[in-house]
Amino acid sequence: MKYVSTRNAHNAVSSAQAIVQGLAADGGLFVPESCPRFSPEEIRAFAEMPYSDCAAAVLARFLDDYTPDELTQYARKAYSPLRFGSDEVAPVVSPDEGCHILELFHGPTCAFKDFALQLLPYLLTAAMTKTGTDHTVAILVATSGDTGKAALEGFADVPKTKICVFYPDGGTSNIQRLQMTTQTGSNVLVLAAKGNFDDAQNGVKRIFTDRDFAAALAQQNISLSSANSINWGRLVPQIAYYFRAYARLLAQKQLQPGQEINIAVPTGNFGNILAAFFARECGLPVRRLICASNRNNVLTDFFSTGTYDRNRSFHLTASPSMDILISSNLERLLWLMSGQDGEAVSALMHSLSERGSYTVDGALKAKLSERFWAGCCDDVQTAETIRETFEKHGYLCDTHTAVAVRVYRDYCRQTGDRTPTVIASTASPFKFAGSVLSALGRQTDGDDFALLERLSAVSGLPVPAGLAALRTAPERFGRVIAPADMKSAVADWLTGQQS
Ligand SMILES: *Cc1c(COP(=O)(O)O)cnc(C)c1O
Repeated sequence: MKYVSTRNAHNAVSSAQAIVQGLAADGGLFVPESCPRFSPEEIRAFAEMPYSDCAAAVLARFLDDYTPDELTQYARKAYSPLRFGSDEVAPVVSPDEGCHILELFHGPTCAFKDFALQLLPYLLTAAMTKTGTDHTVAILVATSGDTGKAALEGFADVPKTKICVFYPDGGTSNIQRLQMTTQTGSNVLVLAAKGNFDDAQNGVKRIFTDRDFAAALAQQNISLSSANSINWGRLVPQIAYYFRAYARLLAQKQLQPGQEINIAVPTGNFGNILAAFFARECGLPVRRLICASNRNNVLTDFFSTGTYDRNRSFHLTASPSMDILISSNLERLLWLMSGQDGEAVSALMHSLSERGSYTVDGALKAKLSERFWAGCCDDVQTAETIRETFEKHGYLCDTHTAVAVRVYRDYCRQTGDRTPTVIASTASPFKFAGSVLSALGRQTDGDDFALLERLSAVSGLPVPAGLAALRTAPERFGRVIAPADMKSAVADWLTGQQS
């Protein structure tokens, strides 16, 4: 299967190359030229397989440079019960009639990013061999909080790779920060960048598109790649869990064969919801995708007006992993929905980088509105939702998931749609223990570890081991730099002048 750039269909590469390269040379994102289809029988069978085999089956249809056997081996290692807490890997729980929560936070770093980033090192290192890349691949990551740790955890001490993570200084929860600054491994670097996530992401994108820098690194046998969700290898593993959730609900008789579902996703960079959209393209019976944002509601406005406008104030919220004004993966959706029109996408993205905004035409806007419904809520509503969901249904959700629950309820009220809905639960409530306790009206004094214990006592849930272990882990990284210095920091690190 060929992968093309969203900005120019002539820039076609293989699946392995798309993964090694991350971003297309023209600045576009790689997309599959066509989507495989899964039959209703294939979907039904996913319920009975171990999660890893289900994931491998989905991967095999997109990544034809790998043998099915290779993919099965990688998936078994990545999704082992040792790493994901149980055989279930991605459990679905149904706290309320017609509302099913897909728990994606049982991996080692307690956020859904583990689904892609536990697997990506296997995909990437094999892709390097397959494409004859004899380089060291240096992975640069901009994170709003969760990607950074998940990527570090996946790539620490993986031979022939190095990984550098930039997080916005002061823009993450303290637990998220500690998860990164205590990371072990001889090939890792963690830096705080002044500014917000978009500044960090733009800094990384600038490094990627700097041809002189790439040439200088090539001289030293180093090439750059991305573990952000702009890398296709990040997206494709996420398609699998939507199929799996549907199959499990079928097996539990919560759904009838062929019955449509809606999928609600707390959204930032638009990766996870795009994976749900791809699942639909591949035959999953999905009616609507519900795109939930926090106060940084640039996507809500986009879906309601057709204008994407990042010229607005940026807010730090209780759901920091969604504090984003430029949702990179929207570019892939525009490409798919515009009938794979690279020129049109190119023009929109040019407008975004020049003016900070773009407007889609009426036909495209209508198509988007048919498939997507978008809403947002603020921190007060998020906190209310956490409390209500806990008190009424005995279900504890984190701040990100709560945004999706809230927007899903608004959707039901406003549309009267009763389609069963799968809500992606993207992080463990323990990752945001302070906000969650405060939402429940509990005390929030004491250090992070006191809060973890208190949340455990209140909820009856165990503190995830990876978070409890942070208490005694030494911090290794503390440097804060300006976005303008990101490139030189990367250069110094890669050429061995400092770490
Ligand atoms: C990354 C993240 C999101 C946003 O996901 P995108 O794929 O960037 O839209 C939502 N919730 C949590 C907890 C996350 O870590």
